[in-house]
Amino acid sequence: MTTIATTNPATERVEQTFDALSEDAVDRYVGRAAEAFASYRLTPVGGRAAWMSAAADILDEEADRIGAMVTAEMGKTFTAARAEARKCAHACRYYAEHAEGFLADRPADAEAVGASGAYVRYQPLGPVLAVMPWNFPLWQVIRFAAPGLMAGNVGLLKHASNVPRTALFLEDLFRRAGFPEGVFQTLLIGSRQVERVLRDPRVRAATLTGSEPAGRSVAAIAGDEVKPTVLELGGSDPFVVMPSADVAAAAEAAATSRCLNNGQSCISAKRFIADIGVADEFERRFVEAMRDRTVGDPMDEGTDVGPLASEQGRADVEALVADAVGKGATVLCGGERPAGPGWFYPPTVISGVTPEMRMFHEEVFGPVASLFRVRGVSEAVELANATGFGLGSNAWTREPDEQERFVRELDAGQVFINGMTTSYPELPFGGVKRSGYGRELSQEGVHAFCDAKSVWIK
Ligand code: NAP
Repeated sequence: MTTIATTNPATERVEQTFDALSEDAVDRYVGRAAEAFASYRLTPVGGRAAWMSAAADILDEEADRIGAMVTAEMGKTFTAARAEARKCAHACRYYAEHAEGFLADRPADAEAVGASGAYVRYQPLGPVLAVMPWNFPLWQVIRFAAPGLMAGNVGLLKHASNVPRTALFLEDLFRRAGFPEGVFQTLLIGSRQVERVLRDPRVRAATLTGSEPAGRSVAAIAGDEVKPTVLELGGSDPFVVMPSADVAAAAEAAATSRCLNNGQSCISAKRFIADIGVADEFERRFVEAMRDRTVGDPMDEGTDVGPLASEQGRADVEALVADAVGKGATVLCGGERPAGPGWFYPPTVISGVTPEMRMFHEEVFGPVASLFRVRGVSEAVELANATGFGLGSNAWTREPDEQERFVRELDAGQVFINGMTTSYPELPFGGVKRSGYGRELSQEGVHAFCDAKSVWIK
């Protein structure tokens, strides 16, 4: 049985444990969600927007307190946690402002279908189960909740078991912002209790952000129940550097991307692919930038990289590095855990990674980069696509023809040219291949949890 607890990754101290909800309690929460939906779906979008703006204000005003809570639960730096709270505020405001337009009836050609009026009406699905990970414990939830609630759905959050305080805060956030009782509830449950909720006929859809095994399990159950899902799974994003690139800027962005969130971001670049024309310079600058990152107390504003979120997470990273080194890869920097408490792991660069090594195929969820050399765009694209994942991708080149080839040929849900992959409310977000399906954010993020009802009137 999963333990639901707040354990500080920087100290390894268990600060608080929580009891999982009983089956009866879960039933009551689901009942409350269904009841809330019956009236909430009829509320005007303008009213929802006022509540969503109030949620944004709370996130902004309390960003320091929220940031400290998140840092103590999962170890990201305080600076990053506070920025995450503010990014959530921005997303809430974005949807408060734009949802009405996204949800407006879409006119269709009435004459062509022999009607006097025809249009598409976007209607909410009902209670949606959101299974969420700890790595961006505010953002992943808001990314679903802001568009989802604006569309008239109600949310049931099953958050990761190591971020219960953040999970409870999010329920409280929407309540304080004015959303009616039952519109957004947190279920403190372990992953084994997910199936029961998912099979409950009152729950109409699910969204999961997390690992491939979790996604596969939730999608299989939802498939059996014929319920729609959105899956945002893992990634092993390529970061390609071509000869025309600004190599200094690319190397700095590469280190920033790989160390983002202490190396635990789905859209961190993880595989660095440099053309032979710039490979020596890129390697030198990138290794320097990785070495320069300060590892330490995540509450300290001078820290770039805090601890990994769990002991198991660090053990998984160490196992991948040991496998690569054992099969002949070279560690260019990092590679050894520091002494002392806390699940720290240093920024690490590894060259000579081959397909026999696990790291070539698997996602490394820690600040470890693998470095490759190629000759030309075709080889770069081939290596970039030689993975089961397809979440984000990055290519650095000033040549318009090369840019177009990367845009067209990289198998990924997003491609960033001369920059690092980031999520914005203004752009859809999601993966291809085993990184999942469906899109969050932008207009797509609202429609993901709507029925598009065709209306035909004579
Ligand atoms: P995880 O183990 O899959 O956990 C994610 C959530 O799923 C947690 O709430 C977890 O609950 C639950 N869960 C785990 N196994 C489950 C199962 N069999 N059935 C139902 N629920 C289950 O993932 P993680 O290690 O926390 O997160 C890291 C992964 O998430 C990485 O692969 C990362 O790339 C991916 N990710 C993807 C995105 C994206 O947008 N594509 C964003 C962030 C992270 P418990 O905590 O109770 O186990």
